Amino acid sequence: MNNYVNLAYLVSVVCFIVGLKKLSSPKTARYGNALASVAMLIAIVASLLHSDVLSYSAIIIAFIVGGAIGAVAAVRVQMTGMPEMVALFNGSGGFASALVALSEYSQTGTDEYTKMAAISIGASVLIGAVTLTGSVVAYGKLAGKVPSQPITYPYQNFANGVVFLLIVVLFYPICVATSPTWALCLLLVLSLALGVALVIPIGGADMPVVISLLNSYSGLAACATGFVLENQLLITAGSLVGAAGIILTALMCKAMNRSLGNVVFGAFGVADSTGTTKAADGDRTVRDYGIEDAAMVLDAASSVIIVPGYGLAVARAQHVTHELGQLLEKRGTTVKYAIHPVAGRMPGHMNVLLAEADVPYEQLVEMDMINPEFETTDVALVLGANDVVNPSARTDKDSPIYGMPILDVDKAGTVIISKRSLGTGFAGVGNELFFADKTMMIFGDARQTLTELVAALRDGS
Ligand code: NDP
Repeated sequence: MNNYVNLAYLVSVVCFIVGLKKLSSPKTARYGNALASVAMLIAIVASLLHSDVLSYSAIIIAFIVGGAIGAVAAVRVQMTGMPEMVALFNGSGGFASALVALSEYSQTGTDEYTKMAAISIGASVLIGAVTLTGSVVAYGKLAGKVPSQPITYPYQNFANGVVFLLIVVLFYPICVATSPTWALCLLLVLSLALGVALVIPIGGADMPVVISLLNSYSGLAACATGFVLENQLLITAGSLVGAAGIILTALMCKAMNRSLGNVVFGAFGVADSTGTTKAADGDRTVRDYGIEDAAMVLDAASSVIIVPGYGLAVARAQHVTHELGQLLEKRGTTVKYAIHPVAGRMPGHMNVLLAEADVPYEQLVEMDMINPEFETTDVALVLGANDVVNPSARTDKDSPIYGMPILDVDKAGTVIISKRSLGTGFAGVGNELFFADKTMMIFGDARQTLTELVAALRDGS
C-alpha cells in the first residue's frame, strides 16, 4: 500500500508545482488554485491510507474542528483582512509542524534517531515556534490589537542575538544526549520568545512583508518535520512553500525598493505626525472638484487609465469601478487598468479585487507596460491610490519611498483623484500630485464618488 501512497505523493507534488506555475498569470490563476487544492486533497487522502496511521478517531475530530474553523474564517474574511488571516494560518501551520516533530520525539526519543533527524526535530521546533508567535504578533499589529508602532528598547538586537545563540547551543544536547527532553522544552520556550522579539520592533505597516517571510518559515518548518518523519511529500511541499514565500518576500521588497534588512530592522511605515498632506502650501492649494466636473472631463476623454489602490479595496468599490469602465467603453473611450505590484496591502491585491468584479484580464496592464502610455492618455483616474502614484518617489531623496517605481499618472493629460481627504497612505508621506495644476481632487468615499459619477455620466448621455 505504501508504494501507492508514495505514487500519490508524487502526483500531488507535480500538481502543486504546476498549480504554482499557473498562479503566475491572472488568466490561469483560478485553475492553478483549483489544481493546488486537488493536490492537497490527494496528499491528505494518501496520508490517511498510510500504514503508520493507527487510529482515525482523533484525525476525524481534528478534521471536523479544523475544517469548520477554516471554512468559517474563509467565508467571513473581508478582502482587506486577508493578510491577517494568512498570518494566523501561517502560525498554525508552522506550529503544527513543530508539534508533529515533538510528538514523534515523545513516542520514540531521539536515541532512536540519526543526528540528522535530531537536528530536524530541533529545527522544526525552532522555526515552527518562531512562526507561531511571530505570526500572532503580526496578526495583532495588523488587526490593531497590538500597538502597530515598532516597539524598541536598548540592546534589542544584542538580546535577540543572545537568545538565538542559546538556541544554537541547545542543538548540542538535542543531538547527543540520551534523553534531551529538557533541551527541547527550553528550545520551545526560547523560540516562542524569539518569535515575539523579532516581530515587535517592526512597524505594523511592514507586516505584509513580514507575513510573507513567516509564510516561508512555515514551509521550512514543514520541510524539517518531513525529514523527521521521512515523508517526501512534506519535504517537497514544505520546500515549495519556503521557496515561494522567500521569492514573494524578495519581490515585495524589490517593488517597494527596500532591502529585507531594512524591512526587518527599519521602522518604516509609521505615519508622520500630521498624517496628512498640507491642504495649502505657500501659494498652492488643492483644487477640490465636484462630480459634474469630473463627469465632463471623462465624457470628453478618448482614453482613460484607471489606477486602483488600497482605498478602492477599503471602499469595496471594485464593482462600480467596472461599471464605470464599461460605461466609458460603450461611449467609445479606451479604458485600461494600471496595476502597480504593491498597490493595496498584499501581492496581487488589485488583480484579485478587479477579477472579483469581472474586469477582463486583458484590460489589467502591469506597471512597466502601462507607464509609457500615460503621456498619450487623456485621463488617469486614481481611485484610492496614493503611494504608488506619488512623484516624490522619483525626486525626493529624503522620502521613505524614494526609488520605489511608481505609476506615471502625472504624465497623463488630466489626473482625477478620488479619496476621502488629504490623508497619507501606507508610507505616511505627503503627495505633491494633489497640488498639481492638472489634478482634480474629488473628496469622498470612492464607492460613493464612483456611484455618483456613473449616474452623472448616464444622465448626461
Ligand atoms: P496607499 O496606502 O498609499 O493609499 C491608500 C489611500 O486610500 C489613502 O491615502 C486613503 O486616503 C485612501 N482611502 C482609504 N479609504 C478610502 C475610501 N473609502 N475611499 C477612497 N479612498 C480611500 O495605497 P496604495 O495602494 O497607493 O499603495 C500601497 C502601499 O502599501 C505602498 O506604499 C506599498 O509599498 C504598501 N505595501 C503594499 C503591499 C502589497 O503587497 N501590496 C505590502 C506591504 C506594503 P484617505 O484617507 O484620504 O481617503
